[in-house]
Amino acid sequence: MNAQKDSLLQTLSCADDYDPNSLPVARARQLILSLIAPVTAHERAFVRLGLNRVLAEDVIAPDNVPAHDNSAMDGYAVRHAELDASGETRLRIAGTAYAGRSFEGAIGPGEALRIMTGAIVPPGLDSIVIQEVVRVDGDCVVIPPGQRPGQNFRHAGEDLRAGQPALQAGKLLRPAEIGLLASLGQVEVTLKRRLRVAVFSTGDELGALGNRLQPGQVYDSNRYTLWSMLQRLGCEILDMGVVKDDPAALEAALLEAASSSDAIITSGGVSVGEADFIRELMTRLGEVAFWKIAMKPGRPMAFGKIGDAWLFGLPGNPVAVMVTFYQFVRPALLKMMGTEPTSLPFFQVTCSAALKKAPGRTEFLRGVLYQDQDVWRVRPTGAQGSGILRSMSDANCFIVLEHERGNVAVGELVSVQAMEGLV
Ligand code: AMP
Ligand code: MG
Repeated sequence: MNAQKDSLLQTLSCADDYDPNSLPVARARQLILSLIAPVTAHERAFVRLGLNRVLAEDVIAPDNVPAHDNSAMDGYAVRHAELDASGETRLRIAGTAYAGRSFEGAIGPGEALRIMTGAIVPPGLDSIVIQEVVRVDGDCVVIPPGQRPGQNFRHAGEDLRAGQPALQAGKLLRPAEIGLLASLGQVEVTLKRRLRVAVFSTGDELGALGNRLQPGQVYDSNRYTLWSMLQRLGCEILDMGVVKDDPAALEAALLEAASSSDAIITSGGVSVGEADFIRELMTRLGEVAFWKIAMKPGRPMAFGKIGDAWLFGLPGNPVAVMVTFYQFVRPALLKMMGTEPTSLPFFQVTCSAALKKAPGRTEFLRGVLYQDQDVWRVRPTGAQGSGILRSMSDANCFIVLEHERGNVAVGELVSVQAMEGLV
């Protein structure tokens, strides 16, 4: 236990640029990711249950997709070599092929086949002329010049070749992958097991929904935000409610959470002035580093391990909870789920407001990306206090002001990260 403790603490502190009192966002994320390993257990499940989960094995295409040469358009299948490059070509229509109902006869020289999208193209025919450009004259079709060889022709296996990996282990399954698996006829898939995540809020001031607030109380909104973000990540959530700022209650909650989950997420109680006993307690029960991250919102954060569970002690302010979740917890959980955590795309747009910014920390403002004539611009959502959850609800992006950056003038480019697709 102690040897293990030393090794984690060493890892957390041996990096030469490690300063727990001012840790850059990217460095903190890197430290977290360097320690976390994916879960190994997996299970077979019906393909639809794979949505938002991680594939545990490569899926090999058992057959070609598509299985047959087929037409990409409604039109006429022809032999390109028979077409006149400079004038019209007249071919006899030998029959019709429909999707799911192929043409069984032979197509002789000087003949074409009327064909629908998805219908099998018989051997010998190599190009499809779309119906919009031809003229039908009795039992013949008249084809204009200018057709490309191989046009509108879908080759067997052009999407996926039999025997090749169609999807690799570690792939997070989105709607496209669920469809792709179905296109291979997969009824079941092998998935990494779901993560179990325990969540509780700390604070004597927290009131439960359904009760009238007493003076000085606030409703416990963090547990609902966290529940929602974890739900979207496909985690099994152990909701442990509110725990009072009381050492014995907190100790019991942390031990229970550690024994039954892969990760514990708490909110509140990690700032410096507040209850030092949480610090003392967390460090006694496991191995926890208290970081002051060079960011706003979300400066204080605890990260470490209690038993076998990773602990993320998030700050109490509702916006700080969301920002730290997206910056640190989300990538950590994705890695634990068995997939490579990818960042959402950053891009630069013109900011239509002046922004105050102190160099030396990364700031995550809540912004609105909007279209002004043909140009996309961004503006802040208004008051940016870390307790104003409304600023997240009004936003569709983060405006990310980098560590070194100072004030932003109207019309300057700023980095934004769209919020949709975060999980
Ligand atoms: P703390 O980090 O515990 O000092 O809390 C910082 C601020 O966040 C305080 O104003 C708390 O009342 C508020 N807060 C803490 N936990 C929650 C919660 N679960 N829901 C809503 N607000 C909270
Ligand atoms: Mg508190």
